[in-house]
Amino acid sequence: MTDDINKVAISWYPGHMAKAKNEIIDKVKIMDIVYVLLDARIPYSSMNPMIDEILKNKKKIYIMTKADMADFSVTLKWEKYFREHDIPSIVVDSISGLNIKKIESYSRELLQDKFQKEAARGMKKRPIRAMIVGIPNVGKSTLINKLVNKKATVVGNKPGVTKAQQWIRLNENLELLDTPGVLWPKFEDRTVGIHLALTGAIRDEILPKEDLVFYLLRYLNDYYPDNLVNKYQITLDGKFNPIEYVMAFYKKYNIKNEDYDRIYDMILNDFKNGRIGRISLDRV
Ligand code: GDP
Repeated sequence: MTDDINKVAISWYPGHMAKAKNEIIDKVKIMDIVYVLLDARIPYSSMNPMIDEILKNKKKIYIMTKADMADFSVTLKWEKYFREHDIPSIVVDSISGLNIKKIESYSRELLQDKFQKEAARGMKKRPIRAMIVGIPNVGKSTLINKLVNKKATVVGNKPGVTKAQQWIRLNENLELLDTPGVLWPKFEDRTVGIHLALTGAIRDEILPKEDLVFYLLRYLNDYYPDNLVNKYQITLDGKFNPIEYVMAFYKKYNIKNEDYDRIYDMILNDFKNGRIGRISLDRV
């Protein structure tokens, strides 16, 4: 673990994590199913390190959000991976609403046995009780809003809006806890930290900008060279080198006063806003 990665933990001290963990464990008890949100661009990096311990044997669905920003072919591989490991998963785009309707039908399918047993014991039909959990910025509020189909919760670019807990009845079949469970991301691994910062899950000031940009440029050159060329129209002779790339960028775009920070911000923002294309950082 490096020092700069340690700083990632900035708003997540061990005490906070223990508190978040216990609160969610407590809420999960009465749930039929838990929707664990993962960012489709980084399904591995956006997974809370203790999720299995927190959920134990509770039914869950991994919902991969922001599918519209991820590389579709890689997302398909993640879906296949989860399927092969008997882990239910759904890929969604909470902006357009892609696959949102599947969440309810899939939940019912997974809970069929439980509800049949309840019916056999004479209990009357009731809605599924569900809650959403995930790391900051993974799209929890946006998904809740899309499910509810009206602006019921506050959506923003900053994580952590808390308010009194309520249930939202989406329809006669599904009830959702209106406050999602906020989980901490992984801190241990430098690559994971970079992926989290590049996708906006943690503040990118936490790692040196240059490290983030050099990592991204190398990665794009390795896996998405056409996207990189199409976006900036820069080609280098010989082996790819991010320092040379930034120098070429500096010349091509007439950046004044050797303002490398401006170049870094441009590239990071282009990536975050999907202007370099649909890119997945975690490969299966
Ligand atoms: P939370 O902290 O987990 O509640 O995350 P938010 O719901 O506030 O979402 C964080 C950012 O991601 C916002 O800018 C959302 O508009 C964006 N977002 C969430 N879901 C999607 C999605 O499926 N596709 C795209 N393109 N953006 C999304």
